[in-house]
Amino acid sequence: MTAFAPRSARLAALADRLFDLLVIGGGITGAAVARDAAARGLSVCLLEKKDWAAGTSWRSTKLVHGGLRYLESGQVGLVFESLRERAILMEAAPHLVRPAEFLFPEYSQRGRPAWQVGLGLTAYDLLALGRAPSRHRGLSRAEVLRRERLLESPELLSGDVYPDGRTDDARLTLENVMDAVSLGAVALTGVEVVGLLRRVSAVAGVVARDAETGRNMEVRARIVINATGPWGDRVRRLEHPGVEGILRLSRGTHITVPSARLPLSRIVAFPLADGRLLFAVPDGAVTMLGTTDTDFSGSPDEVTGDENDLAYLLAATRQTFPHAEIAEHDVVATFAGLRPLVDEPGKSLEETSREEAILVSDAGLVTITGGKLTTHRRMGEKAVDRAAALLARQGVAVSAGATRERPLPGKPRSPVVEWQKHLLDLRDRSNPGLTDDTIAHLAYRYGSRAVDVLGLSIADRSLGRPIVEGLPDIDAEVVFAARDEDARSVSDVLIRRTHLFWQASDQGLGSLERVAAILARELSWSPVPMRDSSAAYEREVERSRTWRQKFREPN
Ligand code: FAD
Repeated sequence: MTAFAPRSARLAALADRLFDLLVIGGGITGAAVARDAAARGLSVCLLEKKDWAAGTSWRSTKLVHGGLRYLESGQVGLVFESLRERAILMEAAPHLVRPAEFLFPEYSQRGRPAWQVGLGLTAYDLLALGRAPSRHRGLSRAEVLRRERLLESPELLSGDVYPDGRTDDARLTLENVMDAVSLGAVALTGVEVVGLLRRVSAVAGVVARDAETGRNMEVRARIVINATGPWGDRVRRLEHPGVEGILRLSRGTHITVPSARLPLSRIVAFPLADGRLLFAVPDGAVTMLGTTDTDFSGSPDEVTGDENDLAYLLAATRQTFPHAEIAEHDVVATFAGLRPLVDEPGKSLEETSREEAILVSDAGLVTITGGKLTTHRRMGEKAVDRAAALLARQGVAVSAGATRERPLPGKPRSPVVEWQKHLLDLRDRSNPGLTDDTIAHLAYRYGSRAVDVLGLSIADRSLGRPIVEGLPDIDAEVVFAARDEDARSVSDVLIRRTHLFWQASDQGLGSLERVAAILARELSWSPVPMRDSSAAYEREVERSRTWRQKFREPN
């Protein structure tokens, strides 16, 4: 059953109503706030100007981790909380948040000595309080190379393997939204908050613009929560135009290269000479490498990696995997996101805390920013606790947080491996001609909802066709994205419901026409929105490639 009501019905549900809580921003933070509040029985409205996870939340390294490097900067509380949340998320969404083995190589010329890394990993094991899938283990140089032969380099001394977690950030966000909706929240994309309503001196709702019609509407709420990540200061200025910014935006860029060029069996966390730690993450057809960490002062609507990011990531990759000889022409895609950190004057970007901050303005606007994908559930809980104190003043009693043991909507009834076998049986009985790879892919991407995608391809065999030849994603997923997952554009489908933008060697451009035609059918588009949506996607791809020109012509 679809989680989302028709968009027109949701728009209508905004009028003539007083919500307990209105959340601005449909990234992981806003989605978690909405889910937490809805789970406590509050009436909730969640507004997102583009698509679920369209800001930073699809652009992360996709790790659900304690953050080994935060131990170095003394952020022990953050690591402890993250490791606890990792365990909670693996239980709530085992299809989306999975254990993964990480390998940490140690070098003669860079990074910490092996004994310090070992000490840090022991602390990491201890802080997980026995909830980690296993413990770390030291490896000799030969053992490192037996696992990852591409790490061969004269500098390599030894290594460690340790357990941590990985996820699909955009889908984690989407499932949080879906859960909020199943609990009664009204959630809409394509609706931008452009003003705040006041009653006496308090914030009492928002003025929102529907991007599809250009119409403005007023939505009333007892409490408004600003969860707009990198846009947080902009929304704060809707209340007080002159208010000083609290954010320090840090741009993080990733590149992907074909896994055939950099085949890895596990995630490699490797130190650089400048003290930073990078990740090489094998993910299907590609290996993702990142990330950079540089100050950003432009518009959060226009963030891309530049030629310096590319040069930095390529140099780091070549130093760590010298025999792979990765070069510029290997790069499939780049994507960059902004960390919405709270500025701490006098500190470097590396030293700036990654913990969240919650602020309440004089007029009662609650802003939550910073934090991590990993800690989103707890951030949602803390923000609603803060809002609960304000709601109490308006006579609304709020119960305690209720998401700690609550599954996300796709959690299968059996372990994912068993669930995958069940799907293989279904496939064999109905014979839609889907490969084992596609079945495994559907089991992890959709969890229990994979049966619905499979059902589409059983009902119409043509939907079993790969969107991009050689990759496991199928046309049925485009239909499902439009019918059940609130996708409204080609970019929503190719970037966030699937990941062909950064996984397909042509970034999905070869399938653009077909994807747009399926969406046009599902969303009753005339030729104009179909062309506009395709053109917008082409611009996204173009923007992700702007570095190329400058990279070839260094000044
Ligand atoms: P966003 O995801 O940016 O969401 C804000 C949303 O608000 C956007 O969707 C935007 O469109 C919307 N919005 C803005 N203005 C308005 C408006 N006026 N009206 C309506 N909507 C509006 N964390 C981890 O735990 N693990 C990792 O591996 C990891 N890797 C990272 C790598 C990088 C490069 C970066 C940048 C961050 C990483 N993080 C990671 C951190 C994590 O990704 C972020 O903390 C998190 O995604 C921030 O989410 P958010 O919801 O606060 O912001």
